[in-house]
Amino acid sequence: MINYIENTEINDEGVFKDIIKYKHEPGKTKLKDCKKEIFEDYLIYKQNSCALQKVIPDIRIPDESKKELIKTYNSNPSALQKSKLMIKKNLSNILRAKCPYCLISAHSTFDHYLDKSKYPEYALFSSNLIPSCAECNSLKSDFLCDSKGNRLFINFIFDELPAYPFLKYILSIEGEKIVLKKVYLDFDDNEPKKQIIKNHFKKLKLIPRLEDQFDVAISTIIEEFHEYNYSTREVKEVLTKKMRA
Ligand SMILES: [Zn+2]
Repeated sequence: MINYIENTEINDEGVFKDIIKYKHEPGKTKLKDCKKEIFEDYLIYKQNSCALQKVIPDIRIPDESKKELIKTYNSNPSALQKSKLMIKKNLSNILRAKCPYCLISAHSTFDHYLDKSKYPEYALFSSNLIPSCAECNSLKSDFLCDSKGNRLFINFIFDELPAYPFLKYILSIEGEKIVLKKVYLDFDDNEPKKQIIKNHFKKLKLIPRLEDQFDVAISTIIEEFHEYNYSTREVKEVLTKKMRA
């Protein structure tokens, strides 16, 4: 089993207190008023980390404080900036340059796994902030579960993914051309994460996005190898190794 993002060791309570410390009134009081509840919510999040669909929005927090939490996130105070830097620093090597949701593009934004409009109590919480690309962030939007209550997106901090390759592809040689026939998901029987991974791929349109990526990769590699007069079959063997990697 693989965890793609290493758990961070950010002191979230310290970050929240720091943000309050440098905040002006009336925002300062609005955040102070909900500090106790927020810290309790952080614990609830951690306790439900593998089943975040069970976390419900905190109705104890006044609307004024909820608005202030979102406003504070958007104003990007320095304590939050430091927390975001630490989140990125703690990413596993594979994710230093890639969005964890798609592994295609670079991350350029932070996604709130529990959306900040529905769960403002987690707007500043490091475990809820996932570095992501703009496309994934936009497609994910404020969705969380399907109509049956299954989560729609993998949480790369807490969800353990299958250790075996579940994303597969079929290449074929047609004349002198190498053609990508199919990219698909293939799971072991009784795979517990099957539904969430399928939902994730569907909602983020990952199969067509990966097909585009593969097409570009194939064309580039073929061009390189044809310069050295490799046969199509030899190119296919190299491609197979590269794609597996
Ligand atoms: Zn992405």
